[in-house]
Amino acid sequence: MNKKTSSILIIDDSPDIIRLLSVILSDSYKVISAGSGPDGLMLAVSEKPDLILLDVMMPGMDGFEVCTKLQLEPGTQNIPVIFLTALNHEEDEIKGFELGAVDFIPKPIRAPIVQVRVKTHLSLKNSRDTFENLSMKDGLTGVFNRRHFNEHLDQEFKRAARNHTSLSLILADIDHFKDYNDNLGHTAGDDCLRRVAKALQDCLQRPADLLARYGGEEFACILPETPSEGAIKVANRWLENIVSLKIQHDFSRVSDYVSLSVGVATLKVGSADSPRDLIDLADKFLYKAKEGGRNQVQS
Ligand code: GH3
Ligand code: MG
Ligand code: MG
Repeated sequence: MNKKTSSILIIDDSPDIIRLLSVILSDSYKVISAGSGPDGLMLAVSEKPDLILLDVMMPGMDGFEVCTKLQLEPGTQNIPVIFLTALNHEEDEIKGFELGAVDFIPKPIRAPIVQVRVKTHLSLKNSRDTFENLSMKDGLTGVFNRRHFNEHLDQEFKRAARNHTSLSLILADIDHFKDYNDNLGHTAGDDCLRRVAKALQDCLQRPADLLARYGGEEFACILPETPSEGAIKVANRWLENIVSLKIQHDFSRVSDYVSLSVGVATLKVGSADSPRDLIDLADKFLYKAKEGGRNQVQS
């Protein structure tokens, strides 16, 4: 692990403890701190630290309550928590583990214990993050894979239905890509797919938009809180951006360069009863774009 790539949040009502832990850890890690449970929760959400050192006994909201709240929040539930417990408080330690803590550090604080436990749990978190990242991504292009796309679409679909917000889906398929592969070879084909994925990603401006490789030469994008006009704009940007890559495609019958056909669907009340319906709708428009002569958007 590189120096100071990991961040640690200390939540403790004692300024002395915060000072001591900061001295022990700040040579190797980025350290942030909060003097109360509510302040700690806010920092956990906004800073997304890699590890939290959490005092059990605090006035107002105690460490157990903070830990419970961290577990309930999707953005913080995977951050490992180490409790700071007074010596000989075995029941606190058991309760901490039951609430999802990964370890505890006894008070009075001793530097070697802090260092070794922090290092172990950061290293575990790092491996877990790497693994999770790999299982969500497409190996060739680095964008999300279809499995993650499906999970994410389910969530966004439910959220849009619940909040009555619009949800758009774009499906794009490279035109005459079989001919590109057959004539230029698979390595050139793979290279093209990587460039296309990057160009599509570059067109997305909102952090909530999610791009995935949906199939061989098909890409899909989920755009939460985006009405139809917005999604059509993105789709047109995709079209222009891909052609402007000027990837020579002498075997295409619609353009000199690699191009896309794109279908756009937007969830409206009563228009789709399930994520599957939304995909089918986008797919129908994609088919229409192919039928209509390719290198175009249909919605
Ligand atoms: P259309 O314009 O109708 O979409 O025609 P197409 O040739 O693009 O569509 P088709 O579905 O017939 O062929 C898709 C081709 O995409 C098949 C294969 O040659 C290529 N392909 C799919 N996955 C990969 C991949 O991972 N790497 C490479 N190099 N090529 C792939
Ligand atoms: Mg295809
Ligand atoms: Mg194709």
